This record gives sequence, structure tokens and C-alpha cells, in this order.
Amino acid sequence: MKEVLLLKYGELILKGANRSYFENMLLRELKTRIKRAGNFDIYKAQSTIYVEPLDDSCDLDAALESAKKVFGIISIGRACVCEKNIDAIFAATKEYIPQFLTGVKTFKADARRADKTFPMTSPELAGEVGAAVLEAMPRIKVDLDHPEVVVRVEIRERGAYIHAGQIRGAGGMPLGSSGRGLLLLSGGIDSPVAGYMMAKRGVTIEALHFESFPYTSERAKEKVLELAKLLCEYSTRIRVHVISLTRIQEEIRDKCDEDYFTLLLRRFMMTLAEKVARRNNCGALITGESLAQVASQTMRAISVTDAVVNMPVFRPCIGFDKEEIVEIARKIGTFETSILPYEDCCTVFTPRHPRTRPEIEKVEAEESKLDFDALVDDAFATLDTIDVRIDD
Ligand code: ATP
Ligand code: MG
Repeated sequence: MKEVLLLKYGELILKGANRSYFENMLLRELKTRIKRAGNFDIYKAQSTIYVEPLDDSCDLDAALESAKKVFGIISIGRACVCEKNIDAIFAATKEYIPQFLTGVKTFKADARRADKTFPMTSPELAGEVGAAVLEAMPRIKVDLDHPEVVVRVEIRERGAYIHAGQIRGAGGMPLGSSGRGLLLLSGGIDSPVAGYMMAKRGVTIEALHFESFPYTSERAKEKVLELAKLLCEYSTRIRVHVISLTRIQEEIRDKCDEDYFTLLLRRFMMTLAEKVARRNNCGALITGESLAQVASQTMRAISVTDAVVNMPVFRPCIGFDKEEIVEIARKIGTFETSILPYEDCCTVFTPRHPRTRPEIEKVEAEESKLDFDALVDDAFATLDTIDVRIDD
């Protein structure tokens, strides 16, 4: 029996003149992601996207798993396709639909005819489909007002499609529809989650990682590339920029008050990030900060680091507890990699008593002991870019 996927997208957000812009982005993204599962025809008709296998090598389960991660899709259903005659539809309903109704007490049958040449009205057809379900499952009841599941047949150009029930899609906005953002990606738990959350709102992710070789290792960097790869499940292709902060950190260590090490470093990080973002058409920075999680994430500390940035900084984890962030990290599959024990540049030369209520004047005074611009230029010159893709 031939099976296809039916994907629904959030119609409300796709209204008006922008509609085809969003739809095309969504289709392009789906085609890229589902390619891995085989040769499918992917097209839209009447606010539904159809994913149809073109040959026997297609893996519909794998296609469904991929589709579940595509933002902009709100629900996914499987359907069987049969010939457009009532005997075939009746038999297919009996054979195919019961698997979706285990444990279900009430249903309603519904029919739609895109192909108006079909020689039955929609209510007549719905009646036949309902009868087929009742024949296969005598204990289930019909409930026209509040059915648990709707069993639907659609008469379309290529055949009759029969389906029942849906699973939830990833929701959110089609990738790319909100522009491009630069994710400051450490090896930790929070920043991959932040990237996922912004990708969900339609932001294509580009990443920037700071290393501090030899204080941080090659393996720490590999771990970050692995995290970027895992994030490609949600943002198909991620360019990862890597910048060395070694010289900056050594200068801060040698010349500045220890209590301010982290804050000073973070101001360099944000300055460099903005530079990378502007060069690569990213309209915002994204970090995994969560209010009060550590000394550098108090309200005052954040305002000190934000003072050097002239573009929006998105911090989607800001209101989350660690447990909530961990829950998302597990769901998106980054957690196990994030907890691998490699050092991060932020944990090199950490102050024993970091300031939680820093004063900007004091920070600027410490910073003036350094040649800020020259250090930024030097660090920027170490930039290396690695392309990470979903099918690498
Ligand atoms: P994470 O779990 O993402 O590492 P964290 O709670 O450990 O976050 P910090 O180390 O203070 O927090 O970093 C806060 C944010 O700064 C991170 O979420 C990330 O966006 C950015 N960041 C920290 N270290 C790096 C790094 N080495 N390279 C790029 N960005 C970094
Ligand atoms: Mg960290």
C-alpha cells in the first residue's frame, strides 16, 4: 500500500502577501532535509504539503523523522493512497486506518473532493468511509461534534488519500524567514539550546566559537563542531567561525584587576562577535545566558557587556532555570555532547571573586590599561571558518 506524508503549516502566520515567501522557504527546507530519506516528490496544494515517495528506496519513517524537525510545520500525518473508486477506498480504509485508532473511543469520517468528477458527493463518501471504519472496528463510536480522531478521505488528482490523526510538528517559523543570527557557541549546555530556540523562530544560525589554545584543546574545538553538527538538524548548514582569544586573555591576566577578568573578556567577545556578524550579514547576536546563572550573567554584568554592542543580542534562555534548559538540550539531542568534560576559554584564568555588581567606570578603567582595538584586530586575524552541514 502506497503511503505519503501530509504536512500542515501554521496558516495564521502565513497570511497575506508574504504567504508564498514563507511557503517557498518551507518547501526548500523540507526538500533539503528529506533528501536523506530517498527520492520524494514534495509539493503543496491547499495549505498542505505532500511528501510522496517516487520509488521503492524511499524510507517514509526517516522522512517523517526529518519533517518533525522542520520549523513552520505544525502537524504531520501519514496517509495511504489508493485508486479513486469506492471499492478501493472502502478496502483501503478497513486495512489502513485501524492502526491509528487503537485506544480511540470516538471518531468522525470526513471527505473532500478536490477532483469534482468523482461520482459521489462528499457526505456520501464520508458515510462510506465511516461504514468501513465501523466494519473494521465494531466497538468504536461515531461522534460528529467532539470526535477524538477525524478519519478523512481526500479525492485528489493522483488518487484517493486516506488518513487519520496527526502528530505535532516542530512549530515555529520557516528557517531563514527571520534572517540570520550569529550564535556565540561554547561547548556548554546553554548556547546550543539558545541556537535551537532562535532557529525555531526562523533565524538561520551561523556560529562563532572562541578558543584559547593551548589553554583550551583541539578536542574542545571538535566538541563544539560536533554540537554545531547536531544543531544542523534544525538549521541545515552552519558556518562555524573560530577565533583565538589567547593573546587577549594573557594581556588581561598580566595587566588587569583579577576581579574583572571575565567581564573584560566578555566585552572583547561581544566586540569580536559583532564584527563577525556584520561581515556575514547576521542581524543579531545570540547567547545562552540565563539571568543570575553565574557572576557574568547578573543584570549589571549583562549591561556592562552589552554596552560595547550595537546590534540586538538575543538571549532566549534568559528566563529559564538550568533544569528547563537541560530538558530542551535533551530533547534536541545536544546534552550528552555538551557535558563532555572539556575546558572552555571562559574557564581559563577565572577570577576567585568575580564582580556581580560591576561598575561600568571601573570596567572601563581596567580596559584602558589595554590596547583594546589592536587586540581586537589581532584576534580577528586568527579567524578560521568551518562549514558544517547536516549530511556531512
Ligand atoms: P554555556 O552552557 O552555553 O557554555 P554558560 O552558562 O556556561 O553557557 P558562560 O560560559 O558564562 O555561560 O557563557 C555565556 C554565553 O557566552 C554562552 O552561552 C555562549 O553564548 C557565550 N560563550 C561562552 N563561552 C564561549 C566560547 N568559548 N565561544 C563562544 N561563545 C561563548
Ligand atoms: Mg560556557
